[in-house]
Amino acid sequence: METLLRDAVLPLLAWFRENKRDLPWRKNVSPYTVLVSELMLQQTRVEAVKERYVAFLSRFPTAEALADASEEEVLKAWEGLGYYSRARNLHRAAKIVAREGFPTTWEGVRALPGVGDYTAGAICSIALGLAAPAVDGNVVRILTRLLADGRCADERAKREFSARLKEVYPPETGAFCEALMELGAIVCLPNGAPLCEACPWRGLCRAHAAGEETRYPVLAEKRARRIEEVTVLVLQCGERYALVRREKGELLAGMYGFPVFKETDPAAYGEILEVRKAKFLFTHVEWRMTGYFIRALRPFGEFLWATREEIGARYAIPSAFRPFRAWIL
Ligand code: SF4
Repeated sequence: METLLRDAVLPLLAWFRENKRDLPWRKNVSPYTVLVSELMLQQTRVEAVKERYVAFLSRFPTAEALADASEEEVLKAWEGLGYYSRARNLHRAAKIVAREGFPTTWEGVRALPGVGDYTAGAICSIALGLAAPAVDGNVVRILTRLLADGRCADERAKREFSARLKEVYPPETGAFCEALMELGAIVCLPNGAPLCEACPWRGLCRAHAAGEETRYPVLAEKRARRIEEVTVLVLQCGERYALVRREKGELLAGMYGFPVFKETDPAAYGEILEVRKAKFLFTHVEWRMTGYFIRALRPFGEFLWATREEIGARYAIPSAFRPFRAWIL
């Protein structure tokens, strides 16, 4: 079995040299830039990250610059990318790196805040020249197809494929790591739509030979999202709008957003101007939101009342609230 994996390395590297996309994080690579791009790319599409990455790096070109920034500045620069705990982790990691230098081992990189096995593998392979596989769902998909491997695509599969890849890692560690990701991103696509004719492995791939590309990977059963019905209030009082900083333990903890309630009577807050329904998917929860745009008669003490300009400049409003932002713009 390992022979097939070994035979797959060189064609993949040759294909990558010719076909890799021109992505901003592939220029001027350093451990810090890979840390930034990998954290941004966790759970976020490449297209959505491209511009934000360039803007973020021009604002914080080094770990020291990021370490010196305030949390609010960092969250503001992260606005729109979602999953804000990544931004906080990146900020904490930058402080460690600014103090102690960038780690040089897998264990050291893995110990940075926000860095899991996959991200540690990517940073070590791409920026440190270490044979450290980065196996995510995309890599499991291409390998289960190459090997016609019917195992369940779960965490255990990631660990096992990681160990097997390590044995065949070539000296071009970064190119190999990125080539695996790239093949999954642009050729061996999910949802039964692999572009086998464009694939450097089409002569090797067992799933392709059997015409069974769509059989793999065998997916682990997904846990259903919990549905929460919530009321979102966009309260306007004169030139100001009500924000709350979300509590620890809540979704979007630490972020500023519009007040959210499980149960409340919107009419008790003022005159209802508009109502809009929207939903937002978190990893394990679905918010079914009913948003009310309300003109309040007076500011209430428990909210932070901010002007439109202050909100635009200072507070990163999470994407979950985007459907209602139009009311304050
Ligand atoms: S030949 Fe097709 S199924 Fe096999 S790895 Fe390539 S794109 Fe995926």
